[in-house]
Amino acid sequence: DTIGRNLDRAVAAFPEREALVDVPSGRRWTYAGFAADVDELARALMASGVAKGDRVGIWAVNCPEWVLVQYATARIGAVMVNINPAYRAHELEFVLKQAGISLLVASLAHRTSDYRALVDEVRAQCPGLRAVHYIGDPSWDELVATADEVTPDQLAAREAELSCDDPINIQYTSGTTGFPKGATLSHHNILNNGYFVGELVAYTEQDRVCLPVPFYHCFGMVMGNLGITSHGACIVIPGPSFEPAAVLRAVQQERCTSLYGVPTMFIAELNLPDFASYDLTSLRTGIMAGSPCPVEVMKRVVAEMHMDEVSICYGMTETSPVSTQTRRDDDLERRTGTVGRVMPHIEVKVVDPATGVTLERGMSGELCTRGYSVMLGYWDQPDRTAEAIDAGRWMHTGDLAVMREDGYVQIVGRIKDVIIRGGENVYPREIEEFLYRHPKIADVQVVGVPDEHYGEEVLACVIPADPADPPALDEVRAFCDGQLAHYKVPRLLQILDAFPMTVSGKVRKIELRENYRR
Ligand code: ATP
Ligand code: MG
Repeated sequence: DTIGRNLDRAVAAFPEREALVDVPSGRRWTYAGFAADVDELARALMASGVAKGDRVGIWAVNCPEWVLVQYATARIGAVMVNINPAYRAHELEFVLKQAGISLLVASLAHRTSDYRALVDEVRAQCPGLRAVHYIGDPSWDELVATADEVTPDQLAAREAELSCDDPINIQYTSGTTGFPKGATLSHHNILNNGYFVGELVAYTEQDRVCLPVPFYHCFGMVMGNLGITSHGACIVIPGPSFEPAAVLRAVQQERCTSLYGVPTMFIAELNLPDFASYDLTSLRTGIMAGSPCPVEVMKRVVAEMHMDEVSICYGMTETSPVSTQTRRDDDLERRTGTVGRVMPHIEVKVVDPATGVTLERGMSGELCTRGYSVMLGYWDQPDRTAEAIDAGRWMHTGDLAVMREDGYVQIVGRIKDVIIRGGENVYPREIEEFLYRHPKIADVQVVGVPDEHYGEEVLACVIPADPADPPALDEVRAFCDGQLAHYKVPRLLQILDAFPMTVSGKVRKIELRENYRR
């Protein structure tokens, strides 16, 4: 169904249960209160001339208004465009033009206080942009105040025109491997995906889910917001952007039952010096996704965060996003060694990237997915859509995977990240998992850099456990000798304080490669 009508069902079933809590400001909404504010904003957007199919941009760090805009645009059939909070003027201009945004909602929270200047800088180049409203500014109240110009009947009439297959959202990919692409998604795509993700972790109206992942990304707005509200559970916002201590405080204060994060977020939380002082006993589950989780980290999450299970999800923005997920009774081996098995109503297959022929179980090839979850296409980029989705509607993920005999899928790495050294394929993840055990290594990324002799050479980028005592290349090599095949042993080492990250918490390996100077 549509996102709006689905929200109505949650309101009818649980009017007085909490839907949304913003920990920093202390603001709280019941389902009834949340729906009332969504409807008011929906009518306000209609009053300011937003028609069905018009693009409304949301450029903000996590805040309650983000969620209100998500549901209000869905109610009136507008296409919400998520804009990465890290964008600067050039990227903002690109997305405003590329998606044809006519109304923009932007935040003036502390980390984004210069958004007004950035909008002013690009506005003249974006004639299609009719209106800008800033959260935390009178221009937001002015927008909301126009709601009275549209009656609830007019809103209901608009909603009656909507179909679940209408485009509702343009979500840009993380930009891990290059410039982000705008995936166009329908109600049907994302609402179903959120619902099934929530079902596989058994959400009920009793659950309270702490969301430190950015709303701008599908992890936050689909697996998070839609997955939570489609089961009548509560969204808990620990803060505008990721702060490990704020996350643990929010879990403790709000008695959260579930916690989301990319692996790097869980690592930062576990490594807080006062980690043991937080009461996390309310947690029963969590979702980890976005990039591979080291085994050691998973063990600590289960043991030290008191979770019965942590669900591993694999997916991509283009597939709404989740295609495979672990199940509640899966053991640690399945949770760390695999990304689960295929979700309900989705197909996956592994093909030879060169020929497209489906491979047998146990063989490594490109993962392809098909089903309700595959995006309508890249916004206004039919050529790129045709490269990604084939004539049979299979989405080619660009990820290398193996499907085991038991149906569980293992992600081997991204096709773009495979290092080809002297004709041998080297999979960075395998080396990273191994080096992660070195006592002097806190975090590690392995990439290929150009080499005259071998084509590519293996570079280990290391964040040392103790900055005063980083590992030397000889030590790293000695650690690998006899344990890894010689061509996998890093020949190059770079010590770093931090990795270049996307806002969705992924390491931009492309930048590690480009930044490396011998
Ligand atoms: P871009 O397409 O712009 O380069 P991106 O692919 O990182 O960026 P997303 O759509 O946010 O953008 O991420 C999807 C990718 O994330 C997948 O293709 C896969 O490589 C990786 N990924 C997602 N979940 C997992 C997981 N559980 N384990 C390993 N990798 C994962
Ligand atoms: Mg991608």
